[in-house]
Amino acid sequence: MRLSERVALVTGASRGIGRAIALALAAEGAAVAVNYARSRDAAEAVVAEIRERGGRAEAFQADVSDGDAAEALVGAVEERLGPVDILVNNAGITRDGLLVRMSPESWDEVIATNLTAAYRTTRAVLRGMLRRRYGRIINIASVSGLTGNPGQANYAAAKAGLIGFTKTLAREVGSRGITVNAVAPGVIETDMTAALGEEWKRRMLDQIALGRFGTPEDVAGAVVFLASDAAGYVTGQTLVVDGGLTMTA
Ligand code: NDP
Repeated sequence: MRLSERVALVTGASRGIGRAIALALAAEGAAVAVNYARSRDAAEAVVAEIRERGGRAEAFQADVSDGDAAEALVGAVEERLGPVDILVNNAGITRDGLLVRMSPESWDEVIATNLTAAYRTTRAVLRGMLRRRYGRIINIASVSGLTGNPGQANYAAAKAGLIGFTKTLAREVGSRGITVNAVAPGVIETDMTAALGEEWKRRMLDQIALGRFGTPEDVAGAVVFLASDAAGYVTGQTLVVDGGLTMTA
């Protein structure tokens, strides 16, 4: 197992991509903090699944869009599981709409959850990582942040911000044995994309080289790689996991 003795915190791990990441990190031997905001039963089910397979996990409630709660989450995890070696900033929401109709509330909510939360959790784990001269920080961005997407000005701004944050922090802490990377998924089948229309899905499928939407496990595989020693010389990167949807130059 590649991650024995490591402690991982995955935000938004009760459902979808975060859930798959938590299960995959645990399968590699990491003790996993499963964060959730509202879905307590789902988070407990993830913990139970990990424990049934002989792994170590605990659920932690915290709404990371509240900066103080995000920071307190790290304290609670470190108290119960030990210092965080691997932080996966995955919690995210969409509040789609064309910019002319986008309310300040939906702008603020998306930026707080997808971007500011990562700043707060990262800053909180960083002190310990700097002391221990080891750390893996993985931010779940989106191809929306790379290419833009109509109706997602708030979300694309947050995800592009996360990519800039990733590159900057990689430069700041690289000399201390800490890597910082982003993963940019394309269209992944989760609750977040379930409500998108059939016509939109058909048009997207035509543009995906692999001819299928992604699974949460597709994204989790990339995260496990970035968390592992195999990626020890990879930092400041954005690993696109989109089945060949974007392929930017
Ligand atoms: P889901 O909507 O399926 O799940 C979202 C998860 O985030 C849930 O576990 C939810 O917890 C948690 N969450 C939401 N808000 C908060 C909050 N304020 N505090 C703590 N946890 C929160 O989303 P996905 O799994 O699809 O998305 C996961 C990440 O991947 C997001 O960052 C998303 O932007 C990104 N992504 C997704 C893509 C896709 O196609 N699905 C494509 C590109 C990127 P709870 O259930 O408790 O609310």
